Amino acid sequence: MKTYFVPRVNQLDSIQLDNEFTNMLRNQIQNILQCLPPGLLSHVQPEINLLLSSTLWNYSIRKSYATFGQQMLSITYEREQLPPIKLAFHYLLTNLLPYVKECAQFRLIGWPLVQRVIQVIENMLVLFNLVNFFKFLKTGNRPSLVDCVLRISHRSLDGAKRRTIGYSYMTRELIWAGFMEFLGFTIPFINYHSLKRKLRNALRLDTKSVQPIERIELSTESRCAFCNERVILPHFMGCSHVFCYYCLKGNQMADAGYQCNVCDYQSDSFMKVTAS
Ligand SMILES: [Zn+2]
Ligand SMILES: [Zn+2]
Repeated sequence: MKTYFVPRVNQLDSIQLDNEFTNMLRNQIQNILQCLPPGLLSHVQPEINLLLSSTLWNYSIRKSYATFGQQMLSITYEREQLPPIKLAFHYLLTNLLPYVKECAQFRLIGWPLVQRVIQVIENMLVLFNLVNFFKFLKTGNRPSLVDCVLRISHRSLDGAKRRTIGYSYMTRELIWAGFMEFLGFTIPFINYHSLKRKLRNALRLDTKSVQPIERIELSTESRCAFCNERVILPHFMGCSHVFCYYCLKGNQMADAGYQCNVCDYQSDSFMKVTAS
């Protein structure tokens, strides 16, 4: 019997893993449902949750007598402690009761008495859970209230193997962290504006030269050549295109060789458009 010993930390971790697993799947389903028109499936949220938890229960407890979290840590329930009748009770306690609670909270909002009863039951469950947790810490057996009620305990699948720390993951983490730090340090030194301009010039086939002009006429239709919005504080750099003050000044400050992004005219001049 001693070889079936499961450390307390593994039992607690399995519960944590199960919760994480369920939450992850729920979030995934939420993300998928966001693509549907709003309100289409929100009124069947408790049923969706029940379906998900029932599917998980079917493929874990019913098929292999262990939740997915327990399977990851090589733990299982004692098979002979879970006859079909107890399995049915396990399903009732872990799936149907949360569903009933969710339904009542979701659909009976206008019934203050029901809400109060749910609140009282929830508080009592929290208290029982706490008592059971202390009992678990003392005995190292049956960490959850459901296990305690059904009197089922865990056993280890790989004997009394102790937990070992995998350093390969830690090394990988360290390498990634170092790489991120390196990127964080070098990226600010690269001037992407000039890089982009040089790349664009290298890939361009035709080269046309634009003659500088002295002044531009502004109309109500004039738009900034950079942001394509109505020009604010119109300025130009020598070609026939007009820019907002910030669009032109910002680009010229970021890249000393800034070219007009419509006609590729290059100049470092910065002139205000004045009314004629
Ligand atoms: Zn602009
Ligand atoms: Zn231009």
